Amino acid sequence: MAEKITSSVDKICLETDCGEKMATLTPDQRLLFKHFTYCPYCAEEMTLVCNNCHEQLTSADFKYCPWCGAEFSN
Ligand SMILES: [Zn+2]
Ligand SMILES: [Zn+2]
Repeated sequence: MAEKITSSVDKICLETDCGEKMATLTPDQRLLFKHFTYCPYCAEEMTLVCNNCHEQLTSADFKYCPWCGAEFSN
Protein backbone atom coordinates (compact mmCIF):
# COMPACT_ATOMS: atom_id res chain seq x y z
CA MET A 1 0.00 0.00 0.00
CA ALA A 2 1.41 3.34 -1.04
CA GLU A 3 1.93 6.00 1.58
CA LYS A 4 -1.11 8.22 1.77
CA ILE A 5 -0.55 11.77 0.57
CA THR A 6 -2.86 14.51 1.71
CA SER A 7 -3.38 17.69 -0.22
CA SER A 8 -5.95 20.42 -0.60
CA VAL A 9 -7.85 21.94 -3.47
CA ASP A 10 -6.38 25.31 -4.31
CA LYS A 11 -7.81 28.02 -6.53
CA ILE A 12 -5.32 30.06 -8.49
CA CYS A 13 -5.01 32.41 -11.42
CA LEU A 14 -2.78 31.07 -14.18
CA GLU A 15 -1.29 34.50 -14.88
CA THR A 16 2.28 34.59 -13.54
CA ASP A 17 1.91 38.14 -12.19
CA CYS A 18 -1.17 37.18 -10.17
CA GLY A 19 0.50 34.02 -8.87
CA GLU A 20 3.34 36.16 -7.56
CA LYS A 21 0.89 38.52 -5.84
CA MET A 22 -0.99 35.58 -4.29
CA ALA A 23 2.26 34.10 -2.99
CA THR A 24 2.69 37.17 -0.78
CA LEU A 25 -0.69 36.73 0.94
CA THR A 26 -1.17 35.15 4.37
CA PRO A 27 -2.74 31.64 4.56
CA ASP A 28 -5.93 33.23 5.90
CA GLN A 29 -6.16 35.53 2.91
CA ARG A 30 -5.39 32.62 0.56
CA LEU A 31 -8.33 30.67 2.04
CA LEU A 32 -10.69 33.36 0.80
CA PHE A 33 -9.54 32.79 -2.77
CA LYS A 34 -11.22 29.39 -2.78
CA HIS A 35 -14.57 31.17 -2.88
CA PHE A 36 -13.64 33.47 -5.73
CA THR A 37 -14.81 32.82 -9.27
CA TYR A 38 -12.69 35.53 -10.90
CA CYS A 39 -9.18 36.69 -10.15
CA PRO A 40 -9.22 39.93 -8.12
CA TYR A 41 -6.09 41.12 -9.95
CA CYS A 42 -6.93 40.52 -13.61
CA ALA A 43 -10.58 39.28 -13.72
CA GLU A 44 -9.61 36.00 -15.40
CA GLU A 45 -11.58 32.96 -14.25
CA MET A 46 -9.86 31.22 -11.33
CA THR A 47 -8.55 27.68 -11.87
CA LEU A 48 -8.83 24.77 -9.42
CA VAL A 49 -5.57 22.95 -8.84
CA CYS A 50 -4.20 20.26 -6.54
CA ASN A 51 -1.96 21.80 -3.90
CA ASN A 52 0.37 18.78 -4.10
CA CYS A 53 0.98 18.33 -7.84
CA HIS A 54 -0.49 21.64 -9.12
CA GLU A 55 -2.42 19.87 -11.90
CA GLN A 56 -5.77 21.37 -12.86
CA LEU A 57 -8.97 19.88 -11.43
CA THR A 58 -12.39 19.95 -13.06
CA SER A 59 -14.37 19.81 -9.82
CA ALA A 60 -13.97 21.18 -6.28
CA ASP A 61 -15.90 18.15 -4.99
CA PHE A 62 -13.17 15.59 -5.73
CA LYS A 63 -12.12 13.58 -2.69
CA TYR A 64 -8.85 12.50 -4.29
CA CYS A 65 -6.59 14.11 -6.85
CA PRO A 66 -6.97 12.27 -10.18
CA TRP A 67 -3.35 13.12 -11.05
CA CYS A 68 -1.29 12.29 -7.95
CA GLY A 69 -3.76 10.33 -5.80
CA ALA A 70 -3.52 12.68 -2.82
CA GLU A 71 -6.54 12.82 -0.53
CA PHE A 72 -8.06 16.29 -0.20
CA SER A 73 -8.52 17.35 3.39
CA ASN A 74 -10.71 20.37 2.66
ZN1 LIG B 1 -5.21 36.93 -12.35
ZN1 LIG C 1 -2.47 16.14 -7.22
